[in-house]
Amino acid sequence: MEIYLDANATTPVLPQAKAAAIQAMVEDYGNPSSVHSTGLKARALIDGVRARAQRLLDTGAGQLLFVSGATEGIQTAVLSALHALRARREAGLAIGSQLLYGATEHKAVPEALKHWNAVLGLNLAIRAIPVDTQGRHDLEFLQREAPEAGLVCTMAANNETGVISDLTGIEAALNASGSSAFWMVDGVQALGKLSLRLSQSRIDYAPFSGHKLYAPKGIGLLYVRAGAPFTPLMAGGGQEGALRSGTENMSGIAALGAVLEALEDKEGKTFRSHAEMSGFRARLAAALEQAFPGLVYNAPLAQSLPTTLNFSVPGLSSRLLQDLFDAADVRVSGGSACSAAKAAPSFVLQAMGLPDWQAAGAVRLSIGPAVDEAFIAEACARIEACGESLRRNCMSPADNQPTVGEGLSRFMLEGACCYVLADAAAQRCVLIDPQPEQVSRLAQVLRCQNYPVVAVLSSHGAAAHGEARALLAAELPDLLAASAEVDALGWPLTQTELELGAKRLRRQLLEGGGQALLLSEGGQGQACCLAFVAPQHAQALGEQIGAQTLIAPPSDEAQLLASNLALERGEAVAAPLLQLSGTQLQQFVDAHPDALLIDVREPYEQFLSQTPELAGVALQAMPLSRFLNAIPGWLAEQRPLLFFCRSGNRSRQAAQALARLGHSQAWTLSGGLALLPDAPVRAAAADPALLV
Ligand code: PLP
Repeated sequence: MEIYLDANATTPVLPQAKAAAIQAMVEDYGNPSSVHSTGLKARALIDGVRARAQRLLDTGAGQLLFVSGATEGIQTAVLSALHALRARREAGLAIGSQLLYGATEHKAVPEALKHWNAVLGLNLAIRAIPVDTQGRHDLEFLQREAPEAGLVCTMAANNETGVISDLTGIEAALNASGSSAFWMVDGVQALGKLSLRLSQSRIDYAPFSGHKLYAPKGIGLLYVRAGAPFTPLMAGGGQEGALRSGTENMSGIAALGAVLEALEDKEGKTFRSHAEMSGFRARLAAALEQAFPGLVYNAPLAQSLPTTLNFSVPGLSSRLLQDLFDAADVRVSGGSACSAAKAAPSFVLQAMGLPDWQAAGAVRLSIGPAVDEAFIAEACARIEACGESLRRNCMSPADNQPTVGEGLSRFMLEGACCYVLADAAAQRCVLIDPQPEQVSRLAQVLRCQNYPVVAVLSSHGAAAHGEARALLAAELPDLLAASAEVDALGWPLTQTELELGAKRLRRQLLEGGGQALLLSEGGQGQACCLAFVAPQHAQALGEQIGAQTLIAPPSDEAQLLASNLALERGEAVAAPLLQLSGTQLQQFVDAHPDALLIDVREPYEQFLSQTPELAGVALQAMPLSRFLNAIPGWLAEQRPLLFFCRSGNRSRQAAQALARLGHSQAWTLSGGLALLPDAPVRAAAADPALLV
């Protein structure tokens, strides 16, 4: 069962809203502009829903329009205000020189300001109202700048952090400034969670969105204060009193009506009270704190919606946390937009002045007011399981379980690769190219396996590697001798070879600086089976490596994972990447009974989740971070390989790498487990087979 904790993004549709929508589509399908009985029924429905919304929002003499959603409501409000400002300016009246918006507004607001300011040729300055570290607007700034403002936009509550704006304080600042600016309040995240008495304030415009509160997508509301200027965004058949033309979205309106009915019913069972939601959030927060020791909240809970938690965990990226939650079938969202290699920090958290790691590592967990006790209990249990998975995989700052380190593990940081090479029999390890930012994570791993670190090597003599070495020596004095005599590349001065049981590491100094590290297996005199070297320098190694020897690069922006000399010299031709959709999986397995299915998700995800049950098919767990260990074995066998992961991204990388290295039957499951039609599942595969 999915636990959906992303209600600030959107919500499922309430059963009674779905029933109302179907009724409006199938039975009461009239056009409210028609004068016959079917039309009159539709008109009565619209009027009833509007009246309910007017009561709930206390709109007084103001208008309340049905629109397609908040983005349309925002456009209409901005167009209306800016059009009026232009008319005033053309009449020779002062309109100020700027448009103000809160620095943490949803992008729809500044983008609408930019758009309509340009389209209407107003060319006013568009400026952000700063917020403090708690996400609250700088009211002194507002009071100082408001006299020069034509329009001020401040959201009621923030979608990323849940921070509730001080609307009373903002109104007081506007009044005290003597400003005649129009005021728009984006009420999207407040609907159903905070009481908004619109007609009691000077708010001119307030947009709302149905899909944030259990109505379907495509329906929203716009409040317009009595007397506030209005310009329709859409002209046409004159619907909504000619304020918003276009045949009304009757099923959306009916569904929204059912939601509002449940909201208005104070004795009803559908929505929780503010106090109940605060209690639920406290339980979720306790589960998070237990699962992720050291967690920090990115906004004060006391000043935030009782349905939102935004947090960061030192040493764990937003992407990693999202993958972890997703593996536990818990849907959360990153507080920031992620690209494959780099997490873009959240502009909201940056505007609050939070440190970069917090802004880039944020995770948002949000519930809707219709959740119940059983749901929260299950959510807490899953969060606790996420914490357990981290402890089992040496990724928690506390109580990690000891692990056996064997073979090669890769740790990525913005395209740069760090490798840990460990030997379980000899209980020793070597680190290659660590970065200071990775030290706490690496220290956890090394502490868990508890092997002495024979050397911390740098492939190209970067100062960062030396810095990481010193930091690690300080954190792990018993495993890494700070005083060991090493050269600028970290190589121990007295040694020509580093011995890790049957594994041996030699080096070759490269012209122009740096070193290639050559791994061999099975005792002295064996040929190199893996070279740690930039592919463009591999040619310089001459006879020391063969055309097929695996090359592990120091950086991998292109996500190739590995290479070899034959590829670098252009002598080898990559095999095609083969793709399979979820619906073809059974067919594939029937056609290839010898196939090996390979789960490339990380162990902390595999611990939490299940994999497809496919009778008689071999399944292997080989996380992408340990992928190089298995490549030689797979290439030697050439049996069909089907890689899979959650979304199809990592399995594509994996299959692409194998195909590039010449495997003729490397398949990826497109869309990953996420798109797999419901299939029987079984517990994740056992420990990765270690083939080095
Ligand atoms: N404003 C806020 C605060 C939001 O959270 C959202 C949705 O993410 C919007 C505006 C846009 O709403 P809609 O999806 O209805 O256009």
